[in-house]
Amino acid sequence: MPNVIIDKDRCKGCELCVHACPQKVLEMSKDLNVKGYFYSKPVHPHKCIGCTMCAMMCPDTAIKVEVYGTRYRYFAY
Ligand code: SF4
Ligand code: SF4
Repeated sequence: MPNVIIDKDRCKGCELCVHACPQKVLEMSKDLNVKGYFYSKPVHPHKCIGCTMCAMMCPDTAIKVEVYGTRYRYFAY
């Protein structure tokens, strides 16, 4: 399964990754990070297909996606 890792303290809460994710894996937190922003976090990590759209979209390079050599199917949502 792909693994999405978000460095919450680099996040500036722009929500670009949340809207970029085709699987609706990410949502914004209800807590603030050290910069005082709501941050993105993976709330449905099991739905992630490892497409890396979130990481490509993030202007602050706060997201890393680890994919381990497997082809993943899209989930219905
Ligand atoms: S890698 Fe793709 S599916 Fe996974 S959280 Fe990022 S945008 Fe969503
Ligand atoms: S795109 Fe980056 S800076 Fe914007 S909400 Fe997502 S993790 Fe935070």
